[in-house]
Amino acid sequence: MAHGATPALTGTQRDALFAAAVKAMGQAHAPYSKFLVGAAVLDAQGRIHAGCNVENAAYPQGVCAEAGALSAMVLAGGTEVRAVLVAGQGDGLVTPCGGCRQKIREFAAPDTPVLIANAQQVRAAFTLDQLLPHSFGPDHLAARSAKVHQ
Ligand SMILES: [Zn+2]
Repeated sequence: MAHGATPALTGTQRDALFAAAVKAMGQAHAPYSKFLVGAAVLDAQGRIHAGCNVENAAYPQGVCAEAGALSAMVLAGGTEVRAVLVAGQGDGLVTPCGGCRQKIREFAAPDTPVLIANAQQVRAAFTLDQLLPHSFGPDHLAARSAKVHQ
């Protein structure tokens, strides 16, 4: 997968990501933890896709907000994530869990911005590489399959 240089996020895109993530947060199905999370991703076409956490009575079957947003992007034909915004509750920064960092990496370059918010404002900004350093991604397998086919 080829990733172009990631342009800086515009204020308009940032606001739209924030609005989509906060709206999704309000739709979360979190009857057990009561911990609502919303996520939004910006794709290469400038479209925004959102997701919310969906808990399950069989706890491990719950799905993170980021996974839902990525699924929505793929369903819409998106193949690249240019920015991510996660909105959650509480005093601590609601950063993507380890599994979601890897899920985001499937579609995002290491320099992709990952913004962390609550319902009121964006609180922090990271790059994906800061959250998932020395990551394993599609490029590793692309190089491998190229060798296999030589
Ligand atoms: Zn997660």
